[in-house]
Amino acid sequence: MLKQKSGGGESWARVCDKCRAAACAVYCRADSAYLCAGCDARVHAANHLASRHERVRVCEECERAPAALLCKADAASLCTACDADIHSANPLARRHQRVPVLPFSGCLPGPPSRACSR
Ligand SMILES: [Zn+2]
Ligand SMILES: [Zn+2]
Ligand SMILES: [Zn+2]
Ligand SMILES: [Zn+2]
Repeated sequence: MLKQKSGGGESWARVCDKCRAAACAVYCRADSAYLCAGCDARVHAANHLASRHERVRVCEECERAPAALLCKADAASLCTACDADIHSANPLARRHQRVPVLPFSGCLPGPPSRACSR
């Protein structure tokens, strides 16, 4: 789900540091790099050491910062800035339950895929 905003590249999602062709999906702390799903899989499947890198999802809202919180009501991973933004918007949103986003290693979590052996 890419945000197609025309004019002013400022709000454009951060691009993958590796291929610079796709929007980033995860942030790898060990590499200090934002990677798209494809590059993430390639880079971190390359060797055993790389597969242990801890990564976090990128904020679904701004797609420019690592997500820090997962909102259960919205089923969205948000960075601290977007979390504050969205959840201060109205009293109902303020009641949303959020849990810290945990880093993961190995395969990208999400819909089960056959590419993932674990
Ligand atoms: Zn990439
Ligand atoms: Zn890495
Ligand atoms: Zn954000
Ligand atoms: Zn929420």
